[in-house]
Amino acid sequence: MSRSAHPAGPRHADVLPEGHYAPPPADLNALDPRVWARTVTRNKAGAITVGGRGATDLAAEFGTPAYFLDESDFRARCRAWRDAFGPDADVFYAGKAFLSRAVVRWLTEEGLNLDVCSGGELATALGAGMPAERIALHGNNKSVEEITRAVEEGVGRIVVDSFQEIVRVAHIAERLGKRQRVQIRVTVGVEAHTHEFIATAHEDQKFGLALAGGQAAEAVRRALKLDGLELVGIHSHIGSQIFDMAGFEVSARRVVQLLAEVRDEHGVELPEIDLGGGLGIAYTPEDDPREPREIAAALRDIVTRECAAAGLTVPRISVEPGRAIVGPTAFTLYEVGTVKELPGLRTYVSVDGGMSDNIRTALYDAEYSVALASRTSTAEPVLVRVVGKHCESGDIVVRNAFLPADVAPGDLLAVPATGAYCRSMASNYNHALRPPVVAVREDGEARVIVRRETEEDLLRLDVG
Ligand SMILES: *Cc1c(COP(=O)(O)O)cnc(C)c1O
Repeated sequence: MSRSAHPAGPRHADVLPEGHYAPPPADLNALDPRVWARTVTRNKAGAITVGGRGATDLAAEFGTPAYFLDESDFRARCRAWRDAFGPDADVFYAGKAFLSRAVVRWLTEEGLNLDVCSGGELATALGAGMPAERIALHGNNKSVEEITRAVEEGVGRIVVDSFQEIVRVAHIAERLGKRQRVQIRVTVGVEAHTHEFIATAHEDQKFGLALAGGQAAEAVRRALKLDGLELVGIHSHIGSQIFDMAGFEVSARRVVQLLAEVRDEHGVELPEIDLGGGLGIAYTPEDDPREPREIAAALRDIVTRECAAAGLTVPRISVEPGRAIVGPTAFTLYEVGTVKELPGLRTYVSVDGGMSDNIRTALYDAEYSVALASRTSTAEPVLVRVVGKHCESGDIVVRNAFLPADVAPGDLLAVPATGAYCRSMASNYNHALRPPVVAVREDGEARVIVRRETEEDLLRLDVG
């Protein structure tokens, strides 16, 4: 039986539905710029390079698995978002996608603000020098300690998420003799076209206060009465990995409607609206994301139009991209350990990481692509499943992809678009040591920004 597999054919009819898989790419060695970071290419030896540094050298120096992040690409994406939205709007990077002290410094230098959603993220941001007024604190159940620290430090805004929290933040601020700027997170009843676990604007979910039924309006009523709060705006985040702007349009329209109702009822025009994050990126060449410029223009247009219709001054807009900034900037480099062909089924390629460094495939059915990174090959394409080394059959990194049929133990594989929600969601499952993040600059300088975990790190927590 040949190692080569194909997307559909009688041999696979019971396993692989006809037409289910895209055909193999014309050139397996090509690196599609839609999914790879900007400085990624191949060198003369055929190895994938980032910032001019070859995958084989990087693996020798930093080990595998490891995330390699293209620093100039990260900075360029920050600038693209900031320039697209201009001086009358704010771009908050969503720290949960990936946060480290180096990232905080890049954001600070590139003029972005930062969303945090825990005490740990807040400490990272403050510790690396992000000015508190450029930080927003999120979350549906912030602790008293987290709120207290945020208010004491003077964060620019807290996005309140429940009736209890409105009172809690007000109380803490009053006790500290402060007036905290807050936005109210609302759910606008928009279902983003994405996987249900990551869509967040259904009414039946834990975040926010619903516009429908008047909870959001009631939250505004309560917040406006409290001395400890300065209510500055309304916040809406409709989901993740969204390509279609229609959801944002409906969301913006409904948020502006609430602003008009607030003006009619209370005689105040709230000066800010935040339309959240969730902008999609290309995980595979089939994905077709929008440019920041297009997104900014679309959002500005709809808000301007709706405000004109309602006779409102256009509020200051903010957005919160996480994935769209960091996602495309990194790839994960793995070493192949085994190649197992299941006759008539598929070929399993096992790598030295897995669901501990990328949980998204198991958690969200996320799709990724993969390329042979240590060399090129002229072998025919074989349909593979790239799996990890964990004790779990759902431990899949790339569900379906084509690799050259001569892929073998010792080869390096690179999985692109792993900058967001991979290291930040990494776990120690099976006592795996979480991989390092290595930032590579355009001039080839590569430095560890988050080091690899060691067995000592693991054992330090185990007090016996
Ligand atoms: C997760 C989240 C974001 C960022 O989402 P991305 O898909 O990474 O752009 C922005 N705002 C809020 C409130 C979030 O919860």
